[in-house]
Amino acid sequence: MEKFSFGIGDRFAHQGHYQLQAFCDLEDLGVKVTPVWNKSHREHITVGSEPKSVRTEADNSISTLAFKEAYYVDADHINSENVDGFLESSDFFTIDVANKIGESLSAKDRESFLKAYGHLLEPFKIEGISGIQRIVEEKLVVLGDNFFAAAKEASRIYDIIKAYKKDSPFLVEISMDEVELPQSPIELFFILNFLADHNIPVNNVAPKFIGRFNKGIDYEGDLERFEEDFEKSLLVINHAIVNFGLPSDLKLSVHTGSDKFSIYPVINRLIKKYNAGLHLKTAVTTWLEELIGLAEGGVDGFTFVKKIYKEAMGRYDELTEPYSTVLNIDISALPTMGNLQLWSSEEFVDALRHNPMNFRYNKHLRQLLHTAYKIAAEHNDEFYSLLNKHEAVVGKNVKDNILNRHLKPLFL
Ligand SMILES: [Zn+2]
Repeated sequence: MEKFSFGIGDRFAHQGHYQLQAFCDLEDLGVKVTPVWNKSHREHITVGSEPKSVRTEADNSISTLAFKEAYYVDADHINSENVDGFLESSDFFTIDVANKIGESLSAKDRESFLKAYGHLLEPFKIEGISGIQRIVEEKLVVLGDNFFAAAKEASRIYDIIKAYKKDSPFLVEISMDEVELPQSPIELFFILNFLADHNIPVNNVAPKFIGRFNKGIDYEGDLERFEEDFEKSLLVINHAIVNFGLPSDLKLSVHTGSDKFSIYPVINRLIKKYNAGLHLKTAVTTWLEELIGLAEGGVDGFTFVKKIYKEAMGRYDELTEPYSTVLNIDISALPTMGNLQLWSSEEFVDALRHNPMNFRYNKHLRQLLHTAYKIAAEHNDEFYSLLNKHEAVVGKNVKDNILNRHLKPLFL
């Protein structure tokens, strides 16, 4: 796979070529980043779309802009229950094995696991990481329980994809980020070892990093710890390429839930330091730019956005429940409908646009509106006609956001 890639979510499949324009503009500045359109099963269900619509959007955007470089369509967070629907239209598969993490090995499996991996009880070294690594047998058993069954499941899903694709190339990402506890770089070492032993040609691996990755807002956590873990994880990746026989293009994938601006400078510095590749996935950010663009576009757009917000307030529990682990909303900090009716569109845009320097910026409003895409899907006729009517201003917001707030800080 290409060295740098960036995942863009476009829930309503209207902004593909504006998103792509950001990659073209970055290339004009001298850095090539590969666009990947990602959409998960859950998003398809919520919006009522089919996986093939993402392929259509990507292909149309590519031909609209006569884009000549590689691009991919990512079946995001698929598992054995829903992979089938994505086989034809995707060429990038994010295999999610989070639900297998923590599944204890049977007594028989544990015995053969310890036999196969007993050599890892010997002290070992990871190039670039100071000191000698040692683990005790109890810890090895925990690692087996946590990650060996997950690797086995990943291999089962990989085989389904391979059997369908035969000789057509496709990319494999293994994601373990949707779990409670972060994985340390040493755990990543074992995860990659297990994946290699299951003969999965992993291109990207997405561990859960330390800190909170709430939807659509900035990183919340210990930046120094993140930096230390990210750096060690890059070294573990290098070790795995050399020692485990994994593909030489193996790279870290960071699932951000969008807009983790404060970790971008850290990532930028470290991928340059180690000449490392990177995949970074976003999802929410374009949908929120659509709302911003509509609010800026005219009275009809702003009225629609206020209607979405009003419904979202009324359906707060229903909308936020599926995202409860990745939201941190203080309800008392949300504007009341009475307040919102008094706001100008400029005040609203200032509150929603992700500019932490703006005193009106409101991360609680931003998180709630992230969950409200379900409501827009329920009013899709009205929503799509407004998106078409205000296409220029919406598209400008979409492109500027990806280019200036994401691609440039990460890769330039
Ligand atoms: Zn993820």
